[in-house]
Amino acid sequence: MDFGAFHLNGYSLGGVETAVAVPELRLAFDVGRGRGDLLRCDNIALTHTHVDHVGGLPYLIALRQLYRMAPPRVFVPAQLAGELAAMLKAFEPLQRFPMACDIVPVESGARYPLRRDLLLEPFRTYHPVPSFGYTVVQTVEKLDPRFRGLPGAEIAERRRRGEQLTRTEERALLSVTGDTLVQVLEKQPHILRSEVLVLECTFLDDRKPLAEAHAGGHVHLTDLWPFVDAFENDTLVLSHFSQLYTTAQIGQLLQPFAERIRPRLRALPTEPGGVALEFPTAQ
Ligand SMILES: [Zn+2]
Ligand SMILES: [Zn+2]
Repeated sequence: MDFGAFHLNGYSLGGVETAVAVPELRLAFDVGRGRGDLLRCDNIALTHTHVDHVGGLPYLIALRQLYRMAPPRVFVPAQLAGELAAMLKAFEPLQRFPMACDIVPVESGARYPLRRDLLLEPFRTYHPVPSFGYTVVQTVEKLDPRFRGLPGAEIAERRRRGEQLTRTEERALLSVTGDTLVQVLEKQPHILRSEVLVLECTFLDDRKPLAEAHAGGHVHLTDLWPFVDAFENDTLVLSHFSQLYTTAQIGQLLQPFAERIRPRLRALPTEPGGVALEFPTAQ
C-alpha cells in the first residue's frame, strides 16, 4: 500500500501470522513467522507476544547474524521484556552463539526516537496479555506564523542573530493497534486522527458471536459501527481477519462499512503476496 510518504507491506491472518513493514523506515510492526523482507527492518515494534506476532523473532535475529547485519532494536511492552529476553536466551545453547538484539522495554506515553525527525509513541491496547499499539510521529520545523510575510533578507538577518524563527509541528503518520478490544478507540482517541490507522478487526459477522470475540480480546465489525463518524484518518486499514472468511467474503462484509466512513478503507491481505482490498470512497 502506497501512502506517498511511506509504504505498508505485509499481511495478517488472525491467530496464524501478522507482520506489517514500513520499508522506508526500516520498521516492522510484529514479525509473524519472520518472512524475508522483515530482515531489513532494523527497528521492530512488538504489539504483544502471542506467537502469531513474534514467532519469527529468533529466526530473524539468527539470520541477521548469519548475514553480519547489526542486531535489531526490538521495542516491546515493558512488562514482557524480561520474558522475551529469556526466550531468546534459551535459544543460545541450542544455536551455540549469542542471540544479539537490543531489547527496548517501552511504556505508554513515552516517546522513542527512530530517526532525527521521527518518534515512536506506544499506547495501551486491550488484549489478554500486556499489549501496546504504536503511533509514528513526524516532527516538522515550520516558520513561526509571526514571521510569515517578512522579506527573505530580514528572515536571514534574524536567523543570523540567532533568533528562534521556527516552531516544531507534529504529524501523526501512522498508528498500528495490534490485537485489541474496541475500547482502544475511546481510550486512545488520538489514533482516530492519524493519517493512516491500521486497526485490528478479526471478526466480521455473526459466525462469531460478539461475546466470544470480546473474550478473545478482539474487535468485531459490529463494534466499529458506533464509531462510523469518529474516524478522521485519511485511510483506515483493517487487519487480522479470522480464517472464517475468504477474501471475497471480507470484501462483501466490509462494503457497507466502507461506504459509510470518511476515510478510504483498505483490508490487509490474509496471505503472503496478497493485495490489499480497496473500497470506493464514501463520497
Ligand atoms: Zn493475533
Ligand atoms: Zn493476540
